[in-house]
Amino acid sequence: MQNQLLLLAKVQEIDIQVGLIHEEERQYNADIERISEDITQHEGKLTSLKTELDELEKARRLLEDEVAVCAERIKRNEDRLKNVKNEKEFNAVTKETSAAKKEKQTKENEIGKFNEEINEKIGFMKTEEDKLLQRKTELEEKSTSIITNKEHWQKRLKEIDDERLAIAKDISSALLKQYETIRRKRQGIAIVAVEAGTCRGCYMNIPPQAYIQLQKGSSDLIFCPHCHRILYWHPKASNS
Ligand SMILES: [Zn+2]
Repeated sequence: MQNQLLLLAKVQEIDIQVGLIHEEERQYNADIERISEDITQHEGKLTSLKTELDELEKARRLLEDEVAVCAERIKRNEDRLKNVKNEKEFNAVTKETSAAKKEKQTKENEIGKFNEEINEKIGFMKTEEDKLLQRKTELEEKSTSIITNKEHWQKRLKEIDDERLAIAKDISSALLKQYETIRRKRQGIAIVAVEAGTCRGCYMNIPPQAYIQLQKGSSDLIFCPHCHRILYWHPKASNS
């Protein structure tokens, strides 16, 4: 039984390594998913900023057209001023000119405000574009390295799977089955060494009787009374 348990502990070491490889792969995929979501978000933000910018530019163009109309009005009135025949006409033309100038000024002020808003939007867009580019680069790097890693993981998994098969063939199938059942319930650890009278799975003391039995080499399986894992006695792991 002792020999079977030592082999089983080796199988467990391999299973832990397999778990770590799968975890690493899972982490990679999660990172890629997170970066892709970020990219979609930045792209969405950029699209709405672009729409807002288009609206602002359209409004500015309208105002610019209106300013041009005002300028024409001013020029027309100034021309008229050269040919006025009386004071009444002079006053009317002057009044009209000053109204046109005032309107032009108001529109130009509005254009100024639009310019500020437009510049601000362009700034926001630049920031989003930079972030997007950065995330895209990250995604590219991650995607390249996951390809390399996948090859490495597959090779490693194949190696340790062969190793596991070679060891497991000398373990009784009943024991392997029991190991699998406990492993599922106990976070991947089903067999643990006893060290200085303590279970290395839950760090609780095991009854002295069980400890003596383990050292003598019991033909029955001995379980930790606290965490219910299979116990084995490992001379190297034990201090006594
Ligand atoms: Zn325990």
